[in-house]
Amino acid sequence: MNTIGHLINGEMVSGDPRQQDLVNPSTNEVTGKVSLAEKATVEEAIAAADAAYKNWRDTPPIKRARIMFRLKDLLEQNADKICELITREHGKVLNDAMGELQRGIENVEYACGVPELLKGEHSKNVGPAIDSWSEFQPLGVCAGITPFNFPAMVPLWMWPMAVACGNTFILKPSERDPSSALFIAELGLQAGLPAGVLNVVNGDKEAVDTLLSDKRIQAVSFVGSTPIAEYVYSTGTANGKRVQAFGGAKNHAIVMPDADLDNAVNALMGAAYGSCGERCMAISVAVAVGDATADALVEKLKARIVELKIGDGRDNNNDMGPVVTRAQLEKIEGYIARGIEEGAELAVDGRGLTVPGFENGNYLGASLFDNVREGMSIHTDEIFGPVLCVMRVDTMQEGMDIIDAHEYGNGTCIFTRDGEAARYFSDNIQVGMVGINVPLPVPVAYHSFGGWKRSLFGDLHAYGPDSVRFYSKRKTVTQRWPAGGVREGAQFNFPSNG
Ligand code: NAD
Repeated sequence: MNTIGHLINGEMVSGDPRQQDLVNPSTNEVTGKVSLAEKATVEEAIAAADAAYKNWRDTPPIKRARIMFRLKDLLEQNADKICELITREHGKVLNDAMGELQRGIENVEYACGVPELLKGEHSKNVGPAIDSWSEFQPLGVCAGITPFNFPAMVPLWMWPMAVACGNTFILKPSERDPSSALFIAELGLQAGLPAGVLNVVNGDKEAVDTLLSDKRIQAVSFVGSTPIAEYVYSTGTANGKRVQAFGGAKNHAIVMPDADLDNAVNALMGAAYGSCGERCMAISVAVAVGDATADALVEKLKARIVELKIGDGRDNNNDMGPVVTRAQLEKIEGYIARGIEEGAELAVDGRGLTVPGFENGNYLGASLFDNVREGMSIHTDEIFGPVLCVMRVDTMQEGMDIIDAHEYGNGTCIFTRDGEAARYFSDNIQVGMVGINVPLPVPVAYHSFGGWKRSLFGDLHAYGPDSVRFYSKRKTVTQRWPAGGVREGAQFNFPSNG
């Protein structure tokens, strides 16, 4: 059986004592195994990245950029294979995997511009014949720890920009679906990254803890659930590292009485149920303003839910594949049961779905709750499944208060035809990414991605301009060349132009 190992110093390595099964969520068949790196294996990767750093740091940015151009080509040439790997281990439908990959490639395209992005800032004559500039130097060895739900895209948020900035990198993908990330890293080497510049270690907590404690790691990017994000942030920063840790979400959409309801329903169907709701930007709560809006919204959603096609991810006619694991399926079903107990009205029950030919798969239909209220666990918790909650409020402000009071602040959106309301909403809502008639406001690669509140621990957002800052440190140089080599006497007051 195929065992997925690690990519260390340009070589595929395996042999750790611990391994974990890789399981196809559509059938629950074991498709392979993944090695779980022990401390010594991770240390080998860190040593390789550390040794590769000196030469890589001094490689001209334009040469690093050329590797990114080649990587983009290789990703496009191998797109079908990458998507097959994603679907086999994650379960999402192939064309959804293609969307994820395309978003990842856009991050590589942004990294192609790294010579421009690293140019720095220059000021001539900050004093008489004195020039000053700020340059952006790499940090050293950086690490990335990524979640299961975007196994190709999230690693591509991280390492292309990190290495383009002159760092070396160690990626620790999700142990549930590591194959696409490992294959893409091999393409990175094929594109021209020298051995040791990009390493992949597969594993779990033991690997993560080694990365968080080793002094040679300068910075850590993490994406995953909030409790782990908080742990990674507090442990990494306590060990003196720069850390950005992206956590969970509960994204609300406000549906105003003047919204184009058919458009809003179309948008909500994809945003709530696409990829089985296993997206950190999924809309899991629709807040309807006014009972008439809520009644019409629920009726239209119910009519659309019965039309959803659910089945194996390899069939692009399907709208939803299976959820990632049997445990996740049971957890989601548990939330649905609790929602009923807590008094919400289950308008559509997606439990108990069987897909012919895939009877052992982790299949769950779309569920819809109406009359959800604050305090219910289906509202407080991130379910990460195909469950949409409808809440009823009388005013937009009431809806905004619900959103602002929630522990997460990743994404949100408003459906309305009223520009003034939309402007007030986007200006005041305490959420990091806002859509106006756009349900999944995931920023494009040349902006940056990040939530507020407990959806992000750290300061700088992912990819885009913030990632250049995250993966570099500013050095400011002030320079004077005294004419004719004449030396002035000592000066004891603080230098100024006054
Ligand atoms: P997870 O937190 O279980 O795992 C993420 C990573 O952390 C994995 O690589 C895993 O191996 C590692 N990990 C798990 N437990 C650990 C522990 N105890 N100690 C150290 N490392 C540990 O998350 P997941 O289930 O893979 O992904 C889903 C979560 O990710 C959801 O909460 C989702 O909202 C979130 N997510 C957030 C964003 C964002 O940008 N904010 C994007 C995608 C996913």
